Amino acid sequence: MIAEELEVAAFLKSQPKKLFIGGRWTDAADGKTFETLDPSTGEILARVAEAAAEDVDRAVAAARKSFDRGTWRDLPPAERAAALWKIGDMIEERATELAQLETLDNGMPINDALLFHAPLAAATFRYYAGWVTKLDGATQQVSLPGKYLSYTLREPIGVVGQIIPWNFPLLMAAWKLAPALACGNSVVLKPSEETPLSALMLAELIQQAEVPDGVVNVVPGRGEIAGARLAAHSDVDKIAFTGSTEVGKLIARASADSNLKRVSLELGGKSPNIVFADADLTRAVSGAFFGIFFNQGQVCSAGSRLFVQEKVYDQTLDELLKTVAETRIGPGIDPVTQMGPLVSKTQMERVLGYISVGNREGARLLAGGGRPAGLDSGYFVKPTVFAHVDSNMRIAREEIFGPVVSAIPFTDEDDLVAKANSTIYGLVAGVWTSNVARAHRVAHALKAGTVYVNCYHIVDPVTPWGGYKQSGWGRELGPHALDLYTEIKNVIVDIA
Ligand code: NAD
Repeated sequence: MIAEELEVAAFLKSQPKKLFIGGRWTDAADGKTFETLDPSTGEILARVAEAAAEDVDRAVAAARKSFDRGTWRDLPPAERAAALWKIGDMIEERATELAQLETLDNGMPINDALLFHAPLAAATFRYYAGWVTKLDGATQQVSLPGKYLSYTLREPIGVVGQIIPWNFPLLMAAWKLAPALACGNSVVLKPSEETPLSALMLAELIQQAEVPDGVVNVVPGRGEIAGARLAAHSDVDKIAFTGSTEVGKLIARASADSNLKRVSLELGGKSPNIVFADADLTRAVSGAFFGIFFNQGQVCSAGSRLFVQEKVYDQTLDELLKTVAETRIGPGIDPVTQMGPLVSKTQMERVLGYISVGNREGARLLAGGGRPAGLDSGYFVKPTVFAHVDSNMRIAREEIFGPVVSAIPFTDEDDLVAKANSTIYGLVAGVWTSNVARAHRVAHALKAGTVYVNCYHIVDPVTPWGGYKQSGWGRELGPHALDLYTEIKNVIVDIA
């Protein structure tokens, strides 16, 4: 039951939620729907039309039509910029509803949704609104005999398919849509089947901001059906994917097997968060806690491998355990909650499975290790700390995507860098030290797309985001995302 006093109750009242295709709210062609649950209770939150291949085809056709007609890409840049800015404003105005929706669908604490996710989504639209009027080309100095004017244009790629995960549903939608639209593309967005609701509310705002019909289409549906169709579609020019490394490989394969559409991938991680003995330990411990337990550990960049220099290993873990013991676990919608439920029963079982693996592998369980008492109907897992983890253990190698940290001791810098880099992933890393030279030395030696020094999980629309190795291809955010959503055209004119 959704409390009537919640601002978002009105949005949830009209069900089933529909697909958004070509500017219209529509049922799936076969009339199918699926349920999305509130993970804090296991109850049904909403019924949602479930896109199948035919619906994805309809959405791609609508996007193609809008792109070919130039209804968006040919608008004066200042008008497109104004529409994106307006979407940012509308996210801000509707932040309470969006945050409630995010919390009810995903489980995250309401304060995180309200103070972090919604404002950052608004800021992302505003940041890319600024780029619309600045998508400049360049001129080249040609040395061949004769006289040539050579210049470049940045053009939109065309129809862009975007597939996003459930961990930060609204924010991932903003990171995908804002730069793609800034560059003049038309988009088909497939949110996760676990958390489709905030993307649908965002589509309402985009419609109200008068983005022309067909430019943005939103088709919730199952990954292996709707997602796979989008990735394999030969009329989609580019696919942008955020999700697991396993599915990322399927996306790359689908592109190769269809039309070699452009691909960008934001994938998994197993990030090292590193505490040197010379660090400010109070800050390092709170950074270690935040690094792994924010969003219940369901963060691609979670600091899931906590490397601590031997000299301060016991002290750091003692302090971390005190913070863990004080953590308030409960439904995300309760404002005092610091940790909510995991997104689904499947995810809870996967995380509990990894905890059993850790126990079997001989890691020392210092805290957590199961479900909290009294919250049986939701998908809660206690913040869990394993100590004396060996780098070869599965819990130190595989992405758990839950509130489980593996603490690993190290001796010196060389030992640390080798251990920290020994992973298939390379998304982010954290370094806690008071030695400036060491901070930079280690930051340069780590193979990661982002290195945080004396901070963690700092993300802003201007900071490039993406991974080394199997954490992905390409960089989102900042000006880098413009490269993901444009083609460079070179025009050479004989002017002799
Ligand atoms: P997932 O890979 O299972 O699903 C992601 C999306 O892909 C969903 O929309 C899903 O429906 C779709 N999908 C699933 N199978 C598909 C298929 N065969 N073809 C096309 N689409 C398919 O990931 P998830 O469980 O939703 O999210 C967790 C993962 O996402 C973690 O690995 C996490 O690290 C990663 N992630 C990465 C970033 C980043 O920026 N690097 C951000 C958030 C999450």
